[in-house]
Amino acid sequence: MIQDLRNGTKTSLSFEVFPPKKEEEFHNIFDRLDDFAKLKPDFISCTYGAGGSKSGKTIEIASYIQNKLHIDAVAHMTCVGFKQADLEQNCAMLQREGIGHVLALRGDRPRDMTDEQFNGREFFYASDMVRYLKAHTQLCIAGACYPEKHPEAENAASDLAHLKQKTDEGVSFLISQLFFDNDSFYRFRERAVQAGITVPICAGIMPITAVGQLGTSITLSGSTVPGKLSDMLEAYARKPEELRKAGVEYAVGQILDLKAHGVDGIHVYTMNRVKTTAEIVAQI
Ligand code: FAD
Repeated sequence: MIQDLRNGTKTSLSFEVFPPKKEEEFHNIFDRLDDFAKLKPDFISCTYGAGGSKSGKTIEIASYIQNKLHIDAVAHMTCVGFKQADLEQNCAMLQREGIGHVLALRGDRPRDMTDEQFNGREFFYASDMVRYLKAHTQLCIAGACYPEKHPEAENAASDLAHLKQKTDEGVSFLISQLFFDNDSFYRFRERAVQAGITVPICAGIMPITAVGQLGTSITLSGSTVPGKLSDMLEAYARKPEELRKAGVEYAVGQILDLKAHGVDGIHVYTMNRVKTTAEIVAQI
């Protein structure tokens, strides 16, 4: 339960899922969630399209997790395209569905958003949405953090100062961007503590199971790819099943090391892949 995470009683295990893009694939997600539930995560979070167009899907999935599977659901919510009325509407939907946890995010700028729209946005940073949610709802609010700094941040120090401001506005726990080098996480955690950030931090782990991931999620995240990982990708570039297994092994190695270093929580970016996630859970 998220309560345990906040009490600091154990290393939590949680998963991220996303709403399938194609309408015809949408119903499959519920079968997958049933399988994810068997792995007994403490919570499952569901992503949200930055433009807001898929918000209904996020809430539908989060409601299934919360009400059918009886696992704490964390609904992601991005405010880059939001007016206050949109936020109010979303909060009312969450309340109606009994979803008590959100991951409050600014979101990335949608491709079709003009400079004027982007620069004139009502909630400028995630912390602005956190302040609003804290004042107007009972939601338990999570925030995002970046062990290797957010790509837009001028430097690590300013990024950390903004993170401190975000937690001060009322964030109860943090979920980190994916990373492959645990040392970068440990350094970040130490700096966060020094900056006075006391909320639990879940470490984001994404198993690499296909070469294509390097060109998408990883590049976007700006995470460093250690030599050991790039060697692995090169060695198994044409052997998909071996690459998948090596990706599982790499993720398991990271998680065991994180647990040994007393991390608050492990958050697996599942990419909706049950088999890979189950293999990881079995080994940790
Ligand atoms: P913020 O906390 O607002 O920070 C954004 C940038 O602004 C940072 O560089 C920060 O240093 C800077 N900043 C913050 N406050 C100030 C200030 N007061 N003055 C000046 N600069 C400031 N995206 C989606 O679209 N959907 C999702 O579901 C989603 N899920 C995610 C889950 C996790 C765990 C993570 C780590 C990211 C996720 N993202 C998602 C991506 C996220 O939306 C982007 O990384 C986005 O660019 C930043 O969002 P944020 O909430 O971290 O922003």
